[in-house]
Amino acid sequence: MTTPGDPSQSPYTYGRFHNPSWNQYEAALAELEGGSCLLFPSGMAATAAVLATMVPPGSTLIMPQECYYTTRVIASQSFDGAWFAAQNIKVVMAPTAGDGLLRALEAEAANGVAMLWLESPTNPGLDVCDIALLASKAHEIGALVAVDNTTATPLLQQPLALGADLCIVSDTKAMTGHADLVLGHVAARNPQHVESLRLWRTRMGVIPGPMEAWLAHRSLGTLHVRLMQQCRSAMAVAEFLSGCPQVRGVRYPGLPTDPSHSMAAKQMKAFGCVVSFELPSAEAATRFFAHSKLVYEATSFGGLHTSAERRARWGGDAVSEGFIRMSVGLEDVHDLIADLTAALAAV
Ligand code: PLP
Repeated sequence: MTTPGDPSQSPYTYGRFHNPSWNQYEAALAELEGGSCLLFPSGMAATAAVLATMVPPGSTLIMPQECYYTTRVIASQSFDGAWFAAQNIKVVMAPTAGDGLLRALEAEAANGVAMLWLESPTNPGLDVCDIALLASKAHEIGALVAVDNTTATPLLQQPLALGADLCIVSDTKAMTGHADLVLGHVAARNPQHVESLRLWRTRMGVIPGPMEAWLAHRSLGTLHVRLMQQCRSAMAVAEFLSGCPQVRGVRYPGLPTDPSHSMAAKQMKAFGCVVSFELPSAEAATRFFAHSKLVYEATSFGGLHTSAERRARWGGDAVSEGFIRMSVGLEDVHDLIADLTAALAAV
């Protein structure tokens, strides 16, 4: 692309600064999120940009103790550990369920809380917190509120409308839904936040590929039909699993008996495609995967094929050896339940 004369008069100057495919997808995301959006090459790039630009040296960051593993790692090991040690950022972790985050906000009120980080529903435990209540309490002490909305997506839950300042999503999951892209975005209410994130993206060079942006934009057109169908099937699968003698601890925020249900029903339009449950042991989980024909053993979620994994194989999450996180896809739900029935019979 040529850039004659004054560069400020050219809409596009250099590939690291701006790109029409990013703009198109970001504009579509902004309608869904209710705030300006910036695209990043992954969910973690979006997360790191928010933490690095909005949690200043000497401040406190409060976050859920069971949020996405790598987010906890960069906060606890990078901010407290080697990388950001000199910045003296205090990281306080509290549980999502119950009033742990609220109590942490009260306890740290005098310690310069820069940000309250939330994730709801959490991955993989599917706990839910009251985003509106926590946002208003955090704002009372001058803290920003950032919500990782990956599990829900902005179709099912809109953190900015619930009072959050920033919403972070891994578009690698249900947003793009075909398990073939890695992308992330941040939505923000305050234009100044968008500008500082844009500077971070441009200067650090954490830019998404234009082709990925175009594919993601194309996937957005089917988000509603894909995800709503996945939510319906996830509900049917959760109900089915709840009645299986080999299965314990089924978690799905859509189940009326789930501890997250009443809060999720208040702030979500539907309950997502992720269901978690426990089999008696790691060996039982291995047999389950070996005897299923439809469930791919894979670590991502939100794709059009049903996938699942024994989460403890990675370490880092407080889950039992037989804990399984399943992402329900677009297969015929009767076929899926027949397949699960056969796989569970082998457990
Ligand atoms: N947030 C949550 C809740 C996730 O589950 C993930 C990935 O699994 C991420 C963030 C990171 O996203 P990405 O893998 O696109 O970097």
